[in-house]
Amino acid sequence: MSIAVSEVSKYYGSQQALQSITFHLKKGEITGFLGPNGAGKSTMMKIITGYLAPSSGVVTVNGFDITKHRKKVQESVGYLPENNPLYLDMYVREYLKFNAGLHNMKNPSIEDLITRTGLTPEAHKKIEALSKGYRQRVGLAAALLHDPEVLILDEPTTGLDPNQLVDIRKLIKTVGREKTVLLSTHIMQEVEAICDRAIIIDHGMIVADKRLDELKDAKEQVLVVEFDYRVEEMALQQLPRVMAIKNTTRFCYEILFDTAKDMRPMVFDFAYDNGLKILQLNKKNTTLESLFQELTKIT
Ligand code: ADP
Repeated sequence: MSIAVSEVSKYYGSQQALQSITFHLKKGEITGFLGPNGAGKSTMMKIITGYLAPSSGVVTVNGFDITKHRKKVQESVGYLPENNPLYLDMYVREYLKFNAGLHNMKNPSIEDLITRTGLTPEAHKKIEALSKGYRQRVGLAAALLHDPEVLILDEPTTGLDPNQLVDIRKLIKTVGREKTVLLSTHIMQEVEAICDRAIIIDHGMIVADKRLDELKDAKEQVLVVEFDYRVEEMALQQLPRVMAIKNTTRFCYEILFDTAKDMRPMVFDFAYDNGLKILQLNKKNTTLESLFQELTKIT
């Protein structure tokens, strides 16, 4: 197991920021750590990287306890902190060499890293002259310098424009293939775009931990159906496995079934038996976004 977090709690004074968090991450998996602002994402990440001690609980990275083997842990973790603090008056190569020095690296392969992170066209510049997208590349390059097995990326795409966003997501996906990546974000689409798994945290507690493919095979389904005439909800209740019905507009209904089996044929039969015509009939996706909103009660 690359990262094992067991019953971790964290207090800042009397305020509890994390409440008994447990999860395990495997190599080759990109996990989205998703939650609203203040949920506890950065706190958890700082604990995994050894920058902050937990109030209770145990975290191991590659089998090393973060409180007992801090140095070993930092050798196997690459960390891109929130807001990516960089030395703006340094040149790109200078900054990466400086970071290599911090890791006591004798022969860092900086040119190779510059190529891999797409920094080549801007590598001759001072960091202050770079766009936000390129600054994130420098931050990622610095996190990757010592070829860590684990990458902890705190809000790596915040503040990027749409093109930069796509580029950085691609880069994270590529470099993440061989590593264990934990990436925090408050944007659901981000997780859908790059992650294999989503851990949703709210008020310091895990409220969901799911693989993205599991989310796609939800055990419920919502059908949106429009008839050519008004239908009594009581009549629609006769359909099998119905849990809820909502009349959205005029003759349009959203019907929630408690099964993943395709219920559209049943709705067709219902319309036929009742002399109705179907003007539209669609499955509504159960998205990560709806799960996130339901679980964290964001409206
Ligand atoms: P997120 O990264 O999900 O936005 P944080 O981990 O930054 O959440 O914060 C979790 C909670 O802990 C918040 O209520 C925040 O105000 C509080 N907090 C974070 N850092 C500190 C600190 N250094 N001192 C006191 N409270 C803090």
